[in-house]
Amino acid sequence: MKDPAALENGPSSGTKMEMYSRLIANGDAPVGVEAYFAREGVDPLRHAFERKPSVHAGMGGMPIATAEAARKLESLRQMPRSGKTAAYIHIPFCRTHCLYCGFFNRRHDPELASAYARSVVAELAMCADDPAVNSGPVHCLYIGGGTPSDLEPEDLAAILRAARRYMPLANDCEITVEARVHGFDDDRIEACLAGGANRFSLGVQSFGTALRQQLGRLASRDEIVERLTRLASYDQAAVVIDLIYGLPGQTLRDWEEDIATFLEIGIDGVDLYQLNVFKGSPLMTAIERGSLPKAADVPEQAEMFARGVELMRAARFSRLSISHWGRSTRERNLYNLLVKGRGHCLAAGAGAGGNLFDHFMFNDNDVERYMAAVAAGEKPVAMMAAPPKDVWLNKGITAGLERLSLDLRSLGRDVGRDLEQVYGRLLAQWESAGLLRQTDGWIELTLAGQFWEVNLAQFMIDFFKRFGALTEDTHAVQ
Ligand code: SF4
Repeated sequence: MKDPAALENGPSSGTKMEMYSRLIANGDAPVGVEAYFAREGVDPLRHAFERKPSVHAGMGGMPIATAEAARKLESLRQMPRSGKTAAYIHIPFCRTHCLYCGFFNRRHDPELASAYARSVVAELAMCADDPAVNSGPVHCLYIGGGTPSDLEPEDLAAILRAARRYMPLANDCEITVEARVHGFDDDRIEACLAGGANRFSLGVQSFGTALRQQLGRLASRDEIVERLTRLASYDQAAVVIDLIYGLPGQTLRDWEEDIATFLEIGIDGVDLYQLNVFKGSPLMTAIERGSLPKAADVPEQAEMFARGVELMRAARFSRLSISHWGRSTRERNLYNLLVKGRGHCLAAGAGAGGNLFDHFMFNDNDVERYMAAVAAGEKPVAMMAAPPKDVWLNKGITAGLERLSLDLRSLGRDVGRDLEQVYGRLLAQWESAGLLRQTDGWIELTLAGQFWEVNLAQFMIDFFKRFGALTEDTHAVQ
């Protein structure tokens, strides 16, 4: 075994390439390649890896200093964009802090929330003439939070009106409002529909009243069923919900009942998410103190994931991504697919994250500072990162695997590298471990590979960063 650091310090890339080729041809590899391997000889669904590295695969990027960020953003705003584009508007208020949530920012205060809605409208108006905004259609808009559905009906209407006025929304633009069942009354629903919303996404998490209320959710099972049925009865918008598996005290039977209840209501789509217990979150504290039972471990979560996939397949839903299913053509899940790919994302609101010309950016998360910046006519950006060197490769990997299969050959053509060669040894190991199948340059994830998708995406990104240069222009390595 050779240390790849020693190879990287070698005299020339040709020499490095030859050494790497020899190592692999001998069935050997530089130290570190094995770090990306899955366990073999175990049940891959439950035990391919010990844990998941994160919720989403990270791509890295070079942070841009605050003083420089404003100038950089100004120049990006002047560039006309092309290609698929999403928009995101963030509403950072919630009535309660759900124990498992890492996104809680501010408790809902109707007066502050109305003033905030006016700031969002002002921010949208401020950017309306930017070439980066007005140069082409916006294909999906997501108003998320936080809890947008807690806004007053007139504030919801004002934000939707401003979005339509100040952004060139495509005729078939998917316009999603994220909602919580509790408090989402008919006035609010109708304000959204009148404003053009054509999709509602509700964080139900579980229908079990006791299970959900122990986590800080407010509505009972009956209230949720009533509100979802009511929303669906308008027949004007897709209604989709999130369900979470692995909650403290949740059994496999509870999980099956959650999915059965979703199917009975007859709404348009569902996300089946795995619980993540974030370090330092109120949920972790409650579990550590013993006031809540332990959450499911990773092998138990894997079993629940597999059962969810099985039930959705039996119900004949279309699989739109690793975690999302749609009942009919009304549900497209455009926003979630687009932001994981190569599209742009225009962002407005405190803490909103966007992406322009592969630069990631976040608005100031502090509500008062955000509002003050907008009042002063400044774009309230707080953080920016320049694209990592391999951004197109990274996005191609995450977008493909999110949809369960990846055309590695064509991605390789896009980025000018023979990726079947670069990843040959790694993919062969994963195939032998039961995580994927390879056919004609395509990777298709098995059920186990779907559960561990974030590991595979992250490891492919990290592997290229570490070993991509060593395999450059090599065609003999297999
Ligand atoms: S309502 Fe949503 S954003 Fe707010 S704390 Fe609960 S899960 Fe988090």
